[in-house]
Amino acid sequence: MQRVLIVEDSKVVQQVLRHLAAQHLKVAIDFAWSLQESMQLLARNEYTLALVDLTLPDAADAEVVKLTLAHNIPTVVLTSKIDEYSRQQMLEMGVVDYVIKDNRDSYLYAVKLVSQLLRNQGVKALIADDSVISRVVMRQMLEKQLFEVMEAKDGQEALAQLEAHPDIKLLLTDFAMPTMDGFELVKAVRNSRGRDDLAIIGLSGAGSHGLSAKFIKYGANDFLAKPFMNEEFHCRVMQTMEQLNLYAEIKECAYRDYLTGLYNRRYFYQQTERLLKVKPSQYVLALLDIDHFKRINDEFGHLGGDEILKQVADLLKSAFSRYVLSRIGGEEFAVVLKGFELGDAMEVFNDFRKRFADHEFTINGIPYNCTISIGVTSCYSQSMSEVMRAADRALYEAKERSRNCVVSAHD
Ligand code: GH3
Ligand code: MG
Ligand code: MG
Repeated sequence: MQRVLIVEDSKVVQQVLRHLAAQHLKVAIDFAWSLQESMQLLARNEYTLALVDLTLPDAADAEVVKLTLAHNIPTVVLTSKIDEYSRQQMLEMGVVDYVIKDNRDSYLYAVKLVSQLLRNQGVKALIADDSVISRVVMRQMLEKQLFEVMEAKDGQEALAQLEAHPDIKLLLTDFAMPTMDGFELVKAVRNSRGRDDLAIIGLSGAGSHGLSAKFIKYGANDFLAKPFMNEEFHCRVMQTMEQLNLYAEIKECAYRDYLTGLYNRRYFYQQTERLLKVKPSQYVLALLDIDHFKRINDEFGHLGGDEILKQVADLLKSAFSRYVLSRIGGEEFAVVLKGFELGDAMEVFNDFRKRFADHEFTINGIPYNCTISIGVTSCYSQSMSEVMRAADRALYEAKERSRNCVVSAHD
């Protein structure tokens, strides 16, 4: 469990921070007023990150910062004013970043920074650079931002690492490298991994004018010219990761059904089409439709129907969350099983049908029973529409027969 320590002696500021932290940080947080209290908390807990005020009544000389750093806790500093000397001093001490407290926005910035750092934790970042020194410097900075860092000494090696670790989310690549340069690497990587999946920052040495635009045109998210200030590096990486997370959030919204939290029709079609292209025969597809659902709406109103839909979704999740599972229409759902023979899949769906019929749903606290009809087909074709038509015919047949039954398209 991630845990954050926030140290701030001003009552007003601490209140603002508490409010913002409750909104933006979904982790355990401890607040301290003083160095003394920070020491007690540090003795009791392990912290992922610290956000600390530079000066406190019992620690006028940044002692609390030294303390959290001595505990190896990545630390963000809050300070009321800063001159060039203390800025340098602080960065040399090894803090992740500092935030000047001069308006309400700076507290929001600080809390969002902490939130982004927490999201970085455990995320894999790959550095592709032929210079050992550059790699060491960047590794240190990325580790301070909580990334799990990997290294490659040229483009080829980077490409192999990216293939072996599809969960790498950030690539920092130098331009000039032996065997494969930064442009070639970015081009090759973008063939298979979009901007919503992998963030790329291009790097290059001094005097290489015009590289920045070219890097970005080839698909990098951003660019840094060497030598860069630590602070600039930090800001660019944070901003790039924020972009990546926003992409992920937008995608999640576009692919989820708001009512049930299941994937929606759009996701189902895209995902299943992709699966069928590769080796369709390993999949079995089922369409599931609640029986006489209109009666529920008629009897209990639309909200009552919605309540049932949510409970049906939960039941489906409990059975099929490992597979592609979606709500593809009003009271119609779809599941794609992988690695099942048709006969075994029929058994799985028949068991689910029974469980469904026995399940006690509730509407406004009143018990309610209903049934479901299921049409099943093996994925014998790469054509999604063909497979869907077969499943639909089987579902229609199930409704015709008696409802509350499972029918195979191959009977
Ligand atoms: P059958 O057994 O033949 O499937 O009958 P049915 O009544 O379940 O099927 P039908 O397709 O005739 O009606 C489905 C109803 O589902 C009609 C529609 O108003 C309702 N519906 C669709 N989407 C929603 C929703 O999001 N919430 C609620 N409450 N009802 C919905
Ligand atoms: Mg129905
Ligand atoms: Mg229907």
